[in-house]
Amino acid sequence: MKKYQMYIDGKFVDAASGKWFDSYYPFTGKVWAQVAQGDAQDADRAVEAAHRALTQGPWSQLTASQRGLLMHKLGDLVARDARRLAEIEVQDNGKLIAEMQGQLNYIPQWYYYFGGLADKIEGAVIPLDKKGYFNFTRHEPVGVVVAITAWNSPLLLLAYKLAPALAAGCTVVVKPSEFTSASTLEFVKLVEEAGFPPGVVNVVTGFGKEVGPALTGHPKVAKVSFTGSDATGRAINEAAAKTLKRVTMELGGKSPNVVFADANIDDAINGAVSGIFAAAGQTCIAGSRLLLQESVHDQFVERLTALAKTARMGDPMSMQTQIGPIATQPQYQKVLGYIDIAKKEGAALAMGGSAAAGGECGEGWFVQPTVFTGVKNSMRIAQEEVFGPVLSVIKFKDEEEALAIANDVRFGLGAGVWTSDIGRAFRMSERLQAGTVWVNTYRAVSYMSPFGGYKDSGFGKENGIAAIREYLQLKSVWINTGAATANPFVMR
Ligand code: NAD
Repeated sequence: MKKYQMYIDGKFVDAASGKWFDSYYPFTGKVWAQVAQGDAQDADRAVEAAHRALTQGPWSQLTASQRGLLMHKLGDLVARDARRLAEIEVQDNGKLIAEMQGQLNYIPQWYYYFGGLADKIEGAVIPLDKKGYFNFTRHEPVGVVVAITAWNSPLLLLAYKLAPALAAGCTVVVKPSEFTSASTLEFVKLVEEAGFPPGVVNVVTGFGKEVGPALTGHPKVAKVSFTGSDATGRAINEAAAKTLKRVTMELGGKSPNVVFADANIDDAINGAVSGIFAAAGQTCIAGSRLLLQESVHDQFVERLTALAKTARMGDPMSMQTQIGPIATQPQYQKVLGYIDIAKKEGAALAMGGSAAAGGECGEGWFVQPTVFTGVKNSMRIAQEEVFGPVLSVIKFKDEEEALAIANDVRFGLGAGVWTSDIGRAFRMSERLQAGTVWVNTYRAVSYMSPFGGYKDSGFGKENGIAAIREYLQLKSVWINTGAATANPFVMR
C-alpha cells in the first residue's frame, strides 16, 4: 500500500496526530493509497513555514527573473514526468488517461507563462498635481497564500493558483481535496527538485472540515484562493472575513449551451456531447443545460443520443475508453440522486438514467450518460449543479427567450452559443451572464485567457495577466524632492 506524507518546510512529514486516511481508485472502488490526515497543528506548522520563507528565507532575496527561472525548471520537470503524474491522477480520480495525459502535457505552460511574467510586473510613475514630490507605485506579493483545490483536476487547478502566486513572489500552503491528494504530493517532489527553497510551497492533507478552518482563519495567511463548491466557498468566505483576507472563489456552474437553428448542427452536436459527457460531466464548466431552438430540437436530440450511445465506458487506463467512473462514492450517490429527482419532477428520460455496473465497468462507480428532455428551467435538474453525466434539454422559441432561460440561474461560470449569424454571436456574448462565453466551440481554456465566474460561480480571475494581480498588492511611494515640510500650526 502506497503511503503519502505531507510536505511542510521542505520535508515530507507524518501528520502531528500520526493518523492516516484512505484514498480509493474509482474504477475498482478499492483503497490504493493512504494519506497523512492533517489537523489544525499541521495547518499551523505549514503556515508558519510559509511565513518564514516569505519574510526571512532566500525566496524573498531572489530577483523576479530568478523566480521565473525556477518556475521554468518546474515546468520542464512536469513535462518530463507528465505520464507518471497522469497515471496517479487516474488512480485517484478515475479520469481517463487520455484526458489526463493531455492535461499534464499542457500544465507546464502555466509555469512557463507565469514564470515569464514574473519580471514584467512594472509599477508606474504618477504625474502628480503637486510640485516637489515624486510618486511611484510598486506591486508587492500579497503574502502567504492558501490554495485549496477540488478533486476533479487536481494538478491543473493547482497550476491556476500556484503559477501566478509564485510569479508574484508569494509563498503557498496547498490543501488538496481529501479524495485526490496523491498527485499534489508527487508534484511537490518536483518543486523540491527544481530548487525552490523550503517553505515556499507546502502541502497539508486531510479533511476539509478538520484542516480547512485552521488555514482559512490563520492570522498569518493573507489570501485564500479556493476552487470547489459554492457551499464550501461561502463557509471559507465567512472564515476569511474574520481576519480580512483577500479571497478568490472559483465555484460551481450550471452552464447553458445554446443551439440556434442556423448553427452548424454537426459541430453543435459534437460540442454538446463533449460539453456534458467529457470527464463524465465532472467539470465546473459542464454544459449541463442544453437549450435547443424548437425547429431543430427533435432531430438534434435524436442525433445527440445516437452519438452518446456510442461512448465506451470502462477502464480509465485504456486509451479506448471514452467515459470513466465518477470520482468519489458520495458524488456517485449524488448523481444518481439527481437522476431520481429529475424523474420525479417529470422530465422525460431520453437515454441512460441509472448506474452502469458489470462488464467493462466492473465494480466501479459508473453512471450511464443520461439525457432528459422536456426539462423546465424551474426544475431542480435545471438549476442545481449535478457534476455528473446528466444533460437537461430545454426548448426555446427565439433569441430573447433563449437569453432569458440561459440567464435564469444563480450560477454564471460558462455559456456556449452555436450560430452562423455573426450579429447574434456578438449580441449573445454581450448579454449572457457568464465569466466565459464560447461561440461555436465549448470548454476551451488556456493559461492566457482569464477564467472565473459571475454570480454564484464566484469572483476573481485565474489565468492570463489578470490572474497575477490576485496575488499582488499595490503600494504608492511618495518622495519629497524639494517641497518644504510646512509647520502644521501655521495657517496658510
Ligand atoms: P468541495 O467544496 O467539497 O471541496 C473543495 C475543497 O475544499 C476540498 O479540498 C475540501 O477539502 C476543501 N474544504 C471543504 N470544507 C472546507 C472548509 N470548511 N474550509 C476549507 N476548506 C474546505 O468541492 P469538491 O466536491 O471537491 O469539488 C467539486 C466542486 O468544485 C463543484 O462545485 C465544481 O463546480 C467546483 N469546481 C469549480 C471550478 C472552477 O474553476 N470554477 C473548477 C473545478 C471544480
